[in-house]
Amino acid sequence: MPLLQNHIAVITGAGSGIGRAIAVGYAREGARVVALDVDADSARQTAKLVSDAGGTVDSFVLDVTDRAACTAMAKQIADTVGPVSILVNNAGIARRNGMTGAPEAVIKDWEDVIAINLTGVFNVTHAFLGSLRANKGRIVNIGSIQSFVHIRQPSSPAYTASKHGVLGFTRALAVELGKEGVRVNAIGPGFIETPLNAATRANNPEAVRLFMEHTPLGRAGKPEDIVGPAIFLACDLSSYVTGSIVMADGGYRAV
Ligand code: NAP
Repeated sequence: MPLLQNHIAVITGAGSGIGRAIAVGYAREGARVVALDVDADSARQTAKLVSDAGGTVDSFVLDVTDRAACTAMAKQIADTVGPVSILVNNAGIARRNGMTGAPEAVIKDWEDVIAINLTGVFNVTHAFLGSLRANKGRIVNIGSIQSFVHIRQPSSPAYTASKHGVLGFTRALAVELGKEGVRVNAIGPGFIETPLNAATRANNPEAVRLFMEHTPLGRAGKPEDIVGPAIFLACDLSSYVTGSIVMADGGYRAV
């Protein structure tokens, strides 16, 4: 039997990169997928990919920073799709102004990155909590190597703070919800080739070189490299795993 049969899985930021790959992978494992993204077209394109591959999928627009919209979306999905048992908090942005950059840029980065990468995770989780608690749900948060360390080049204190926060939130929720059978885990991707870092790859080869030098597997990851861990944490193979982070970083953190 497919690993995610009879589950309804909501994925934020599913219109691109890692979120899109997880949507396709979850559908392949039998989940009914709900692809959410701030951009309607990209969410629809993901839905088309999933349905062309034989999966069952709905797509909706959701800006994770809009708390009222998150609550309304949870109700709409409960009413029109069904009870959600898997939530992947994937939506995220990376802005790379160091603390000593132009003040306006640094402040804007802080506000946007924390609003999307951290408060967004809170907003969506809070909105779907009722359904997840009622269905012994599984929450998969997308953290980062920067849930543990700061990457010097290009520097982003906001991104590092947001991803440390995602790991802290993961642990707090795992502890609070464990007795109810809700499992909460994170994935820590390394350098994964997606639109998120297209500019860095195009304009900062030295940063990529340093990253690869530090990565035992010696290559950048692809979005598909995150799909296996995401399936594992959402399915019963990980039934005794909670409060954890699975690093999918080519070994970066081992060095
Ligand atoms: P991506 O290709 O840029 O995908 C992120 C998606 O999130 C995009 O579709 C984006 O929409 C959407 N999004 C942005 N703001 C949003 C909002 N306010 N509400 C809802 N959706 C929003 O990036 P990715 O690399 O797949 O990143 C996915 C997750 O992995 C992020 O949390 C990221 O921090 C994390 N991660 C990535 C890497 C990596 O190397 N790529 C490494 C570690 C962790 P738009 O494109 O329309 O803005």
